[in-house]
Amino acid sequence: MRDLRFDNRFVRELPADPEDGRHVRQVHGACYSRVDPTPVRAPKLLAWSREVADLLGLDEADVRDPRFAEVFGGNALMPGMVPYAACYGGHQFGNWAGQLGDGRAITLGETINPQGQRWELQLKGAGPTPYSRRADGRAVLRSSIREFICSEAMHHLGVPTTRALSLVATGEPVIRDMFYDGNARPEPGAIVCRVAPSFIRFGNFEIFASRGEEPLLQQLIDFTIDRDFPELAEAEPDPVQRRLRWFEDVCRRTAVLIAHWMRVGFVHGVMNTDNMSILGLTIDYGPYGWIDNFDPDWTPNTTDAGGRRYRFGHQARIAQWNLWQLANAVYPVIQQVEPLERALAMYGEVFAAEDRRMTQQKLGLATWREGDEDDDASDAARVARLHTLLRAGEVDMTLFFRQLSDLDLAQPSVSHFDTAFYDQARRGDVAAELEAWLKDYAARIAQDGVPGAVRRERMNAVNPLYVPRNYLAQEAIDRAEQGDPSGVSELLEVLRRPYVEQPGRETYAARRPDWARHKAGCSM
Ligand code: AMP
Ligand code: MG
Ligand code: MG
Repeated sequence: MRDLRFDNRFVRELPADPEDGRHVRQVHGACYSRVDPTPVRAPKLLAWSREVADLLGLDEADVRDPRFAEVFGGNALMPGMVPYAACYGGHQFGNWAGQLGDGRAITLGETINPQGQRWELQLKGAGPTPYSRRADGRAVLRSSIREFICSEAMHHLGVPTTRALSLVATGEPVIRDMFYDGNARPEPGAIVCRVAPSFIRFGNFEIFASRGEEPLLQQLIDFTIDRDFPELAEAEPDPVQRRLRWFEDVCRRTAVLIAHWMRVGFVHGVMNTDNMSILGLTIDYGPYGWIDNFDPDWTPNTTDAGGRRYRFGHQARIAQWNLWQLANAVYPVIQQVEPLERALAMYGEVFAAEDRRMTQQKLGLATWREGDEDDDASDAARVARLHTLLRAGEVDMTLFFRQLSDLDLAQPSVSHFDTAFYDQARRGDVAAELEAWLKDYAARIAQDGVPGAVRRERMNAVNPLYVPRNYLAQEAIDRAEQGDPSGVSELLEVLRRPYVEQPGRETYAARRPDWARHKAGCSM
């Protein structure tokens, strides 16, 4: 296996925790703690992403080399790796939680690929760090499979995300309380190597602001701009203005991200500020889920079932709340309230514009008929009526929008969507109104005058046919836990081309089966 090249700016340019060892503690005056992965008994490669390997300049022979599983299982380091755990804090479920940090993630280093791009390699589940608090620093196979599959699927869907290079079994048991019966039992452990230009979160800035460590806060902001937002570093000579431009850019990226989540029906499930990427990437795949029947109130997070803070339809508002916390955190080094407030308002505008643009694309409308939701002839009202019907009728979101592209516009009928309904009674409730909506839609489409084939192609490029539905991931997990990991690669293979109909793979596009109805996503 060839060695990668490293240039570890984070550890070189930012202050380190001076203390050695892993003992759990509050780490002051530092951005990170040096800590090596804890070796595991029997690292075994279960799955890998060829696109990410390629991105790093690795080929199949490198990945199949036994040394690969040793390195990405945490048993060996490549020359140039300087592993560390980052110090960050966060607001969890709306409350300041103090120091959190990489409790089970360990960054191995920043590799420079043959094209000169910088990619951080981070093991998740590689053992304890000073930030592990009362937990073990490990990850179970099922949560690792979920992160591996979904992060790659998101990339192929065109949604900004951290990536996943590999899934390695540790050969060691991990004890977890299963949320559904509370009984602790050993489960197989695994480690995902995730890959991103940066894993810095909102919480990395919040922790220094909360402690009044302003020099460190300023240093981390300026480092982040310099390393991860080079275009800003060049364009804006004044440091305070530069930090403002940066905050605006974070707002803009976050708005685009959430609009994509709404487009594909992704529910993050734990949008705490420590799980918000400064680059606007989807990060930390825990109890995430995918919308089956369209329901803005659905959350996959069973620990959030009461409050439903992190439900599907609430994500745009939560992201803004999180940006508000980030604004508070960076205020000390900007010292101007109004521009920060303007940036937060701009977030709302960008989200609304992107959400509208993507909704228009999903519906295949070449133009947008202006007017608010009260104006029946407006497209906003058309969309609002559709959402109400999809929800009341328990219609599968993914299947509905996919099937909409080849609706017979001469005779639009609800039966075209037969496979998208979960409940015949619910279907009966909305059938007449949905038929009226479809007729109105067909007339609206006709006004655009776009040839059908062109419209279909455009719609199919934004409405996926294959998404990593919770039950599909669960099937791959069940097989892997029985000793057959091939379901993971099979599922990933389908999800590599989510917009292309793949003959013979119809089952991957099917709506959630009845047995999976009350299965939420699971985390930890
Ligand atoms: P999460 O809710 O997954 O974003 O995690 C919140 C915090 O808990 C982060 O600081 C994690 O590093 C930490 N954490 C979660 N699971 C573990 C674990 N098994 N061992 C150590 N720390 C963990
Ligand atoms: Mg997290
Ligand atoms: Mg997590």
